[in-house]
Amino acid sequence: MRAFEATQIFFDRAADRLEIPKDVRDMLLMPKREVQVQVTIERDPDSNCGDQGLATFVGFRVQHDNSRGPMKGGLRYHHEVDLDETRALASLMTWKTAVVNLPYGGAKGGIGVDPSQLSDREKERLTRAFVDQIHDIVGPDTDIPAPDMGTGHREMSWFRNQWEKYHGFKPSVITGKPVEEYGAKGREEATGRGVGILTVKLMKRLGRKAEESKVAIQGFGNVGSHAAKFLHEAQFPIIAVSDVSGTYYSKDGLNVPELLRHKFSHPQGLLEGFEHAEKLPLDALLTLPDAQVLIPAALGGVINEKNVDQIQAPVIMEAANGPIYPGADECLHNRGVTVVPDILANAGGVTVSYFEWVQNRQHYRWPLDRVRQELDRTMSDAFEEVWQTSQQHEVSLRTAAYMIGIQRVRRASELAGSKA
Ligand code: NAD
Repeated sequence: MRAFEATQIFFDRAADRLEIPKDVRDMLLMPKREVQVQVTIERDPDSNCGDQGLATFVGFRVQHDNSRGPMKGGLRYHHEVDLDETRALASLMTWKTAVVNLPYGGAKGGIGVDPSQLSDREKERLTRAFVDQIHDIVGPDTDIPAPDMGTGHREMSWFRNQWEKYHGFKPSVITGKPVEEYGAKGREEATGRGVGILTVKLMKRLGRKAEESKVAIQGFGNVGSHAAKFLHEAQFPIIAVSDVSGTYYSKDGLNVPELLRHKFSHPQGLLEGFEHAEKLPLDALLTLPDAQVLIPAALGGVINEKNVDQIQAPVIMEAANGPIYPGADECLHNRGVTVVPDILANAGGVTVSYFEWVQNRQHYRWPLDRVRQELDRTMSDAFEEVWQTSQQHEVSLRTAAYMIGIQRVRRASELAGSKA
Protein backbone atom coordinates (compact mmCIF):
# COMPACT_ATOMS: atom_id res chain seq x y z
CA MET A 1 0.00 0.00 0.00
CA ARG A 2 1.20 3.50 -0.85
CA ALA A 3 1.76 5.83 2.11
CA PHE A 4 -0.70 8.50 1.00
CA GLU A 5 -3.45 5.93 0.48
CA ALA A 6 -2.96 4.76 4.07
CA THR A 7 -3.24 8.32 5.40
CA GLN A 8 -6.36 8.86 3.31
CA ILE A 9 -8.04 5.79 4.81
CA PHE A 10 -7.43 7.11 8.33
CA PHE A 11 -8.70 10.52 7.24
CA ASP A 12 -11.86 8.99 5.74
CA ARG A 13 -12.69 7.01 8.89
CA ALA A 14 -12.77 10.28 10.84
CA ALA A 15 -14.44 12.26 8.05
CA ASP A 16 -17.22 9.62 7.94
CA ARG A 17 -17.88 10.14 11.67
CA LEU A 18 -17.93 13.90 11.08
CA GLU A 19 -20.20 13.47 8.03
CA ILE A 20 -17.96 15.67 5.88
CA PRO A 21 -19.16 15.90 2.26
CA LYS A 22 -16.92 14.75 -0.59
CA ASP A 23 -16.14 18.19 -2.01
CA VAL A 24 -14.88 19.38 1.39
CA ARG A 25 -12.84 16.19 1.81
CA ASP A 26 -11.18 16.83 -1.56
CA MET A 27 -10.28 20.34 -0.49
CA LEU A 28 -8.88 19.19 2.86
CA LEU A 29 -6.88 16.29 1.43
CA MET A 30 -5.28 17.69 -1.70
CA PRO A 31 -1.90 19.41 -1.09
CA LYS A 32 -1.70 23.11 -1.92
CA ARG A 33 1.59 22.70 -3.74
CA GLU A 34 4.02 19.91 -4.66
CA VAL A 35 7.52 20.69 -5.86
CA GLN A 36 10.02 18.25 -7.31
CA VAL A 37 13.55 19.42 -8.02
CA GLN A 38 16.84 18.14 -9.31
CA VAL A 39 19.64 18.20 -6.72
CA THR A 40 23.06 17.75 -8.31
CA ILE A 41 26.32 17.82 -6.40
CA GLU A 42 29.96 17.34 -7.12
CA ARG A 43 31.23 14.22 -5.40
CA ASP A 44 34.46 14.32 -3.41
CA PRO A 45 37.53 13.85 -5.66
CA ASP A 46 38.26 10.43 -4.09
CA SER A 47 34.73 9.03 -4.45
CA ASN A 48 35.23 7.18 -7.78
CA CYS A 49 31.65 7.65 -8.81
CA GLY A 50 31.55 8.47 -12.52
CA ASP A 51 33.20 10.41 -15.31
CA GLN A 52 32.52 13.95 -14.20
CA GLY A 53 32.30 13.17 -10.47
CA LEU A 54 28.67 14.34 -10.33
CA ALA A 55 25.75 12.81 -8.47
CA THR A 56 22.11 13.74 -9.11
CA PHE A 57 19.22 13.17 -6.70
CA VAL A 58 15.53 14.07 -6.58
CA GLY A 59 14.29 16.48 -3.92
CA PHE A 60 10.70 17.20 -2.89
CA ARG A 61 8.75 19.75 -0.88
CA VAL A 62 5.03 19.18 -0.44
CA GLN A 63 3.04 22.01 1.13
CA HIS A 64 -0.19 20.46 2.25
CA ASP A 65 -2.24 23.08 4.07
CA ASN A 66 -1.81 26.59 5.49
CA SER A 67 -5.29 27.35 6.80
CA ARG A 68 -4.09 27.50 10.41
CA GLY A 69 -0.73 29.20 9.84
CA PRO A 70 2.63 28.80 8.09
CA MET A 71 3.32 25.25 6.97
CA LYS A 72 5.68 23.15 9.05
CA GLY A 73 7.40 19.85 8.44
CA GLY A 74 10.69 17.99 8.39
CA LEU A 75 13.29 17.21 5.76
CA ARG A 76 14.05 13.54 5.29
CA TYR A 77 17.20 12.13 3.67
CA HIS A 78 16.51 8.48 2.91
CA HIS A 79 16.82 6.35 -0.20
CA GLU A 80 13.07 5.55 -0.19
CA VAL A 81 11.91 9.18 -0.20
CA ASP A 82 9.48 9.78 -3.08
CA LEU A 83 6.59 12.08 -3.88
CA ASP A 84 3.90 9.78 -2.50
CA GLU A 85 5.62 9.35 0.86
CA THR A 86 6.36 13.07 1.11
CA ARG A 87 2.72 13.86 0.33
CA ALA A 88 1.52 11.47 3.04
CA LEU A 89 3.93 12.89 5.61
CA ALA A 90 2.94 16.47 4.69
CA SER A 91 -0.73 15.71 5.32
CA LEU A 92 0.13 14.03 8.63
CA MET A 93 1.81 17.30 9.64
CA THR A 94 -1.40 19.21 8.95
CA TRP A 95 -3.43 16.97 11.27
CA LYS A 96 -0.61 16.78 13.83
CA THR A 97 -0.15 20.54 14.24
CA ALA A 98 -3.94 20.83 14.51
CA VAL A 99 -4.27 18.08 17.15
CA VAL A 100 -1.73 19.75 19.44
CA ASN A 101 -3.21 23.12 18.49
CA LEU A 102 -0.11 24.86 17.15
CA PRO A 103 -0.73 27.82 14.80
CA TYR A 104 0.72 25.95 11.84
CA GLY A 105 -0.24 24.02 8.75
CA GLY A 106 1.58 20.99 7.34
CA ALA A 107 4.42 20.34 4.89
CA LYS A 108 7.21 17.83 4.34
CA GLY A 109 10.29 17.52 2.20
CA GLY A 110 13.18 15.29 1.50
CA ILE A 111 15.75 13.93 -0.88
CA GLY A 112 15.90 10.38 -2.22
CA VAL A 113 19.44 9.65 -1.07
CA ASP A 114 21.21 7.29 1.28
CA PRO A 115 23.11 9.76 3.47
CA SER A 116 25.40 7.03 4.82
CA GLN A 117 26.97 6.89 1.32
CA LEU A 118 27.95 10.59 1.41
CA SER A 119 30.77 12.35 3.22
CA ASP A 120 29.96 15.32 5.48
CA ARG A 121 31.18 17.72 2.77
CA GLU A 122 28.91 16.02 0.23
CA LYS A 123 25.94 16.24 2.60
CA GLU A 124 26.63 19.94 3.03
CA ARG A 125 26.76 20.47 -0.74
CA LEU A 126 23.57 18.44 -1.13
CA THR A 127 21.72 20.55 1.44
CA ARG A 128 22.93 23.81 -0.10
CA ALA A 129 21.99 22.64 -3.62
CA PHE A 130 18.50 21.72 -2.35
CA VAL A 131 18.08 25.18 -0.78
CA ASP A 132 19.09 26.78 -4.09
CA GLN A 133 16.13 24.99 -5.67
CA ILE A 134 13.44 25.68 -3.05
CA HIS A 135 14.51 28.82 -1.16
CA ASP A 136 11.78 30.99 -2.63
CA ILE A 137 8.92 28.77 -1.44
CA VAL A 138 10.05 28.44 2.21
CA GLY A 139 10.36 31.14 4.85
CA PRO A 140 9.43 32.00 8.46
CA ASP A 141 5.89 33.06 7.48
CA THR A 142 5.24 30.50 4.77
CA ASP A 143 6.90 27.11 5.32
CA ILE A 144 9.41 26.20 8.03
CA PRO A 145 11.44 22.99 7.65
CA ALA A 146 12.90 20.91 10.50
CA PRO A 147 14.89 17.68 10.98
CA ASP A 148 13.49 14.23 10.21
CA MET A 149 15.02 10.85 9.43
CA GLY A 150 18.55 11.21 8.15
CA THR A 151 18.88 14.90 9.02
CA GLY A 152 19.83 16.73 12.21
CA HIS A 153 21.12 20.04 13.49
CA ARG A 154 24.04 20.18 11.03
CA GLU A 155 21.75 19.98 7.99
CA MET A 156 19.52 22.65 9.60
CA SER A 157 22.55 24.95 10.04
CA TRP A 158 23.64 24.51 6.42
CA PHE A 159 20.07 25.05 5.27
CA ARG A 160 19.71 28.29 7.24
CA ASN A 161 23.08 29.61 6.14
CA GLN A 162 22.30 29.01 2.45
CA TRP A 163 18.75 30.40 2.70
CA GLU A 164 20.02 33.56 4.44
CA LYS A 165 22.38 34.20 1.51
CA TYR A 166 19.24 34.89 -0.53
CA HIS A 167 16.96 36.45 2.08
CA GLY A 168 19.08 37.87 4.92
CA PHE A 169 19.18 37.09 8.65
CA LYS A 170 16.08 35.15 9.75
CA PRO A 171 16.92 32.16 11.92
CA SER A 172 13.21 31.33 12.25
CA VAL A 173 13.27 29.99 8.66
CA ILE A 174 14.11 26.56 10.03
CA THR A 175 13.96 24.77 13.40
CA GLY A 176 16.05 22.04 14.97
CA LYS A 177 19.18 24.22 14.71
CA PRO A 178 22.15 23.75 17.05
CA VAL A 179 21.43 25.33 20.45
CA GLU A 180 24.39 27.72 20.08
CA GLU A 181 22.99 28.91 16.74
CA TYR A 182 19.44 29.92 17.63
CA GLY A 183 18.26 26.38 18.35
CA ALA A 184 15.94 25.70 21.30
CA LYS A 185 17.14 23.88 24.35
CA GLY A 186 15.29 20.59 24.50
CA ARG A 187 14.48 20.36 20.76
CA GLU A 188 16.64 17.32 20.17
CA GLU A 189 15.04 15.28 22.96
CA ALA A 190 11.53 16.62 22.34
CA THR A 191 9.95 13.92 20.17
CA GLY A 192 11.22 11.03 22.31
CA ARG A 193 10.37 12.91 25.49
CA GLY A 194 6.83 13.58 24.21
CA VAL A 195 6.42 9.86 23.50
CA GLY A 196 7.61 9.18 27.05
CA ILE A 197 5.25 11.75 28.60
CA LEU A 198 2.25 10.21 26.86
CA THR A 199 3.31 6.64 27.68
CA VAL A 200 3.40 7.55 31.38
CA LYS A 201 -0.01 9.24 31.17
CA LEU A 202 -1.61 6.40 29.23
CA MET A 203 -0.31 3.63 31.49
CA LYS A 204 -1.57 5.53 34.54
CA ARG A 205 -4.96 5.90 32.85
CA LEU A 206 -5.01 2.16 32.16
CA GLY A 207 -4.08 1.44 35.79
CA ARG A 208 -0.73 -0.20 34.96
CA LYS A 209 2.40 0.30 37.04
CA ALA A 210 5.60 1.54 35.36
CA GLU A 211 7.79 -1.17 36.92
CA GLU A 212 5.49 -3.88 35.52
CA SER A 213 5.18 -2.40 32.02
CA LYS A 214 7.98 -3.76 29.86
CA VAL A 215 8.84 -1.68 26.81
CA ALA A 216 10.27 -2.61 23.38
CA ILE A 217 11.50 0.16 21.07
CA GLN A 218 12.15 -0.27 17.35
CA GLY A 219 14.78 2.27 16.23
CA PHE A 220 17.45 3.78 18.45
CA GLY A 221 18.00 7.05 16.61
CA ASN A 222 16.95 10.46 17.86
CA VAL A 223 13.38 9.52 18.80
CA GLY A 224 13.91 5.95 20.04
CA SER A 225 16.93 6.75 22.20
CA HIS A 226 15.30 9.73 23.91
CA ALA A 227 12.08 7.79 24.51
CA ALA A 228 14.19 4.98 26.05
CA LYS A 229 16.04 7.42 28.31
CA PHE A 230 12.86 9.12 29.53
CA LEU A 231 11.01 5.86 30.20
CA HIS A 232 14.04 4.25 31.86
CA GLU A 233 14.21 7.24 34.23
CA ALA A 234 10.46 6.84 34.84
CA GLN A 235 11.12 3.22 36.01
CA PHE A 236 9.83 1.38 32.93
CA PRO A 237 11.96 -1.71 32.13
CA ILE A 238 13.23 -1.33 28.54
CA ILE A 239 13.54 -5.00 27.54
CA ALA A 240 14.44 -4.54 23.87
CA VAL A 241 15.70 -1.95 21.44
CA SER A 242 16.70 -2.31 17.81
CA ASP A 243 18.45 -0.43 15.04
CA VAL A 244 19.61 -1.47 11.57
CA SER A 245 22.24 -3.70 13.19
CA GLY A 246 19.69 -5.95 14.99
CA THR A 247 17.57 -6.33 18.13
CA TYR A 248 19.13 -6.21 21.61
CA TYR A 249 17.09 -7.95 24.32
CA SER A 250 17.24 -8.55 28.06
CA LYS A 251 14.19 -10.02 29.79
CA ASP A 252 14.72 -8.03 33.00
CA GLY A 253 15.52 -4.75 31.29
CA LEU A 254 18.50 -3.31 29.42
CA ASN A 255 20.97 -0.90 30.95
CA VAL A 256 19.89 2.18 28.98
CA PRO A 257 22.79 4.51 29.99
CA GLU A 258 25.17 1.79 28.80
CA LEU A 259 23.28 1.49 25.48
CA LEU A 260 23.48 5.25 25.00
CA ARG A 261 27.23 5.30 25.73
CA HIS A 262 27.73 2.52 23.18
CA LYS A 263 25.67 4.33 20.55
CA PHE A 264 27.55 7.60 20.99
CA SER A 265 30.94 5.89 20.79
CA HIS A 266 30.03 4.03 17.56
CA PRO A 267 31.07 5.90 14.37
CA GLN A 268 27.58 5.61 12.84
CA GLY A 269 25.68 5.83 16.13
CA LEU A 270 24.72 2.15 15.99
CA LEU A 271 24.33 -0.52 18.69
CA GLU A 272 26.43 -2.96 16.63
CA GLY A 273 28.79 -4.85 18.92
CA PHE A 274 26.79 -4.17 22.12
CA GLU A 275 27.57 -7.19 24.26
CA HIS A 276 25.42 -6.82 27.37
CA ALA A 277 22.24 -8.14 25.76
CA GLU A 278 20.95 -11.10 23.81
CA LYS A 279 21.07 -10.40 20.08
CA LEU A 280 17.87 -11.28 18.19
CA PRO A 281 16.89 -10.90 14.51
CA LEU A 282 15.81 -7.42 13.44
CA ASP A 283 12.05 -7.99 13.27
CA ALA A 284 11.86 -10.11 16.44
CA LEU A 285 11.39 -6.89 18.41
CA LEU A 286 7.89 -6.28 17.08
CA THR A 287 6.50 -9.63 18.20
CA LEU A 288 8.07 -10.11 21.65
CA PRO A 289 5.54 -11.87 23.91
CA ASP A 290 6.65 -10.09 27.11
CA ALA A 291 6.46 -6.44 25.91
CA GLN A 292 3.49 -4.50 27.28
CA VAL A 293 4.36 -1.33 25.38
CA LEU A 294 5.63 -1.45 21.80
CA ILE A 295 7.17 1.74 20.41
CA PRO A 296 7.90 1.67 16.66
CA ALA A 297 10.36 4.59 16.28
CA ALA A 298 11.96 3.90 12.90
CA LEU A 299 10.10 3.38 9.64
CA GLY A 300 6.58 3.53 8.20
CA GLY A 301 4.44 0.45 7.46
CA VAL A 302 6.27 -1.93 9.83
CA ILE A 303 3.02 -3.32 11.30
CA ASN A 304 0.90 -4.60 8.45
CA GLU A 305 -1.42 -7.42 7.37
CA LYS A 306 1.52 -9.85 7.26
CA ASN A 307 2.62 -9.54 10.88
CA VAL A 308 -0.34 -8.05 12.75
CA ASP A 309 -1.47 -11.43 14.10
CA GLN A 310 1.90 -11.89 15.78
CA ILE A 311 1.90 -8.51 17.54
CA GLN A 312 1.30 -9.21 21.23
CA ALA A 313 1.80 -5.89 23.06
CA PRO A 314 -1.47 -4.47 24.44
CA VAL A 315 -0.25 -0.87 23.97
CA ILE A 316 1.46 0.67 20.92
CA MET A 317 2.88 4.21 20.87
CA GLU A 318 3.45 5.37 17.29
CA ALA A 319 6.71 7.30 17.64
CA ALA A 320 7.49 6.89 13.92
CA ASN A 321 5.25 8.37 11.26
CA GLY A 322 2.81 5.87 9.77
CA PRO A 323 4.20 2.65 11.31
CA ILE A 324 0.82 0.84 11.20
CA TYR A 325 -1.13 0.26 7.99
CA PRO A 326 -4.90 0.76 8.09
CA GLY A 327 -5.87 -2.93 7.79
CA ALA A 328 -3.57 -3.86 10.66
CA ASP A 329 -4.82 -0.88 12.64
CA GLU A 330 -8.38 -2.16 12.38
CA CYS A 331 -7.33 -5.67 13.54
CA LEU A 332 -5.49 -4.19 16.52
CA HIS A 333 -8.48 -2.02 17.44
CA ASN A 334 -10.84 -5.03 17.25
CA ARG A 335 -8.46 -6.99 19.51
CA GLY A 336 -8.56 -4.22 22.13
CA VAL A 337 -4.97 -3.02 21.59
CA THR A 338 -4.58 0.65 22.56
CA VAL A 339 -2.75 2.57 19.84
CA VAL A 340 -1.65 6.16 20.43
CA PRO A 341 -1.45 7.51 16.86
CA ASP A 342 1.58 9.25 15.34
CA ILE A 343 -0.22 12.57 14.95
CA LEU A 344 -0.44 12.73 18.73
CA ALA A 345 2.37 10.48 20.02
CA ASN A 346 5.26 12.08 18.11
CA ALA A 347 4.00 15.67 18.17
CA GLY A 348 6.58 16.65 20.81
CA GLY A 349 9.12 17.48 18.09
CA VAL A 350 6.97 19.94 16.20
CA THR A 351 5.79 21.41 19.51
CA VAL A 352 9.33 22.34 20.58
CA SER A 353 10.06 23.43 17.01
CA TYR A 354 7.22 25.88 17.50
CA PHE A 355 8.84 27.07 20.75
CA GLU A 356 12.12 27.54 18.85
CA TRP A 357 10.39 29.59 16.16
CA VAL A 358 8.67 31.73 18.82
CA GLN A 359 11.99 32.36 20.61
CA ASN A 360 13.75 33.23 17.33
CA ARG A 361 11.05 35.74 16.43
CA GLN A 362 11.26 37.36 19.87
CA HIS A 363 15.08 37.23 19.97
CA TYR A 364 14.71 35.65 23.38
CA ARG A 365 15.80 32.34 24.92
CA TRP A 366 13.84 30.09 27.19
CA PRO A 367 15.60 27.93 29.79
CA LEU A 368 15.29 24.15 29.41
CA ASP A 369 12.86 23.95 32.36
CA ARG A 370 10.40 26.19 30.59
CA VAL A 371 10.63 24.23 27.33
CA ARG A 372 9.98 20.96 29.18
CA GLN A 373 7.13 22.43 31.20
CA GLU A 374 5.38 23.84 28.13
CA LEU A 375 5.96 20.60 26.20
CA ASP A 376 4.41 18.62 29.03
CA ARG A 377 1.40 20.94 29.15
CA THR A 378 0.85 20.93 25.36
CA MET A 379 1.14 17.15 25.06
CA SER A 380 -1.02 16.51 28.14
CA ASP A 381 -3.79 18.88 26.99
CA ALA A 382 -3.84 17.24 23.55
CA PHE A 383 -3.91 13.76 25.09
CA GLU A 384 -6.89 14.69 27.31
CA GLU A 385 -8.83 16.07 24.35
CA VAL A 386 -8.14 13.01 22.22
CA TRP A 387 -8.98 10.64 25.09
CA GLN A 388 -12.28 12.42 25.84
CA THR A 389 -13.28 12.51 22.16
CA SER A 390 -12.52 8.81 21.84
CA GLN A 391 -14.67 7.99 24.88
CA GLN A 392 -17.49 10.27 23.82
CA HIS A 393 -17.72 8.97 20.25
CA GLU A 394 -16.64 5.39 21.04
CA VAL A 395 -13.86 5.50 18.47
CA SER A 396 -10.15 4.63 18.55
CA LEU A 397 -7.64 7.23 19.74
CA ARG A 398 -6.52 7.54 16.10
CA THR A 399 -9.98 8.35 14.76
CA ALA A 400 -10.51 10.75 17.68
CA ALA A 401 -7.23 12.54 16.94
CA TYR A 402 -8.11 12.84 13.23
CA MET A 403 -11.59 14.13 14.12
CA ILE A 404 -10.07 16.91 16.23
CA GLY A 405 -7.44 17.78 13.61
CA ILE A 406 -9.86 17.77 10.68
CA GLN A 407 -12.43 19.89 12.54
CA ARG A 408 -9.83 22.51 13.40
CA VAL A 409 -8.52 22.75 9.84
CA ARG A 410 -12.03 22.87 8.41
CA ARG A 411 -13.04 25.58 10.87
CA ALA A 412 -9.98 27.69 9.96
CA SER A 413 -10.92 27.39 6.29
CA GLU A 414 -14.48 28.45 7.11
CA LEU A 415 -13.29 31.44 9.12
CA ALA A 416 -11.06 32.48 6.24
CA GLY A 417 -14.31 32.86 4.38
CA SER A 418 -13.76 31.64 0.88
CA LYS A 419 -14.08 27.90 1.33
CA ALA A 420 -16.31 25.31 2.97
P1 NAD B 1 16.93 8.63 12.98
O1 NAD B 1 17.47 8.60 11.61
O2 NAD B 1 17.63 9.43 14.03
O3 NAD B 1 16.82 7.13 13.57
C1 NAD B 1 16.21 6.07 12.90
C2 NAD B 1 16.57 4.79 13.65
O4 NAD B 1 15.84 3.70 13.09
C3 NAD B 1 18.04 4.41 13.56
O5 NAD B 1 18.45 3.91 14.83
C4 NAD B 1 18.06 3.30 12.53
O6 NAD B 1 19.17 2.42 12.69
C5 NAD B 1 16.74 2.62 12.87
N1 NAD B 1 16.21 1.75 11.83
C6 NAD B 1 16.13 1.96 10.50
N2 NAD B 1 15.58 0.89 9.90
C7 NAD B 1 15.31 -0.01 10.88
C8 NAD B 1 14.73 -1.30 10.91
N3 NAD B 1 14.32 -1.89 9.79
N4 NAD B 1 14.60 -1.93 12.10
C9 NAD B 1 15.01 -1.33 13.24
N5 NAD B 1 15.55 -0.11 13.29
C10 NAD B 1 15.70 0.54 12.12
O7 NAD B 1 15.40 9.07 12.82
P2 NAD B 1 14.47 9.74 13.93
O8 NAD B 1 14.58 11.22 13.82
O9 NAD B 1 14.66 9.05 15.23
O10 NAD B 1 13.03 9.39 13.33
C11 NAD B 1 12.44 8.10 13.52
C12 NAD B 1 10.96 8.16 13.14
O11 NAD B 1 10.32 9.16 13.93
C13 NAD B 1 10.68 8.55 11.68
O12 NAD B 1 9.53 7.86 11.26
C14 NAD B 1 10.38 10.04 11.76
O13 NAD B 1 9.56 10.48 10.71
C15 NAD B 1 9.65 10.09 13.09
N6 NAD B 1 9.66 11.42 13.71
C16 NAD B 1 10.84 12.03 14.00
C17 NAD B 1 10.81 13.29 14.62
C18 NAD B 1 12.06 13.98 15.05
O14 NAD B 1 11.96 15.02 15.74
N7 NAD B 1 13.24 13.47 14.75
C19 NAD B 1 9.57 13.91 14.87
C20 NAD B 1 8.40 13.24 14.54
C21 NAD B 1 8.45 11.99 13.96
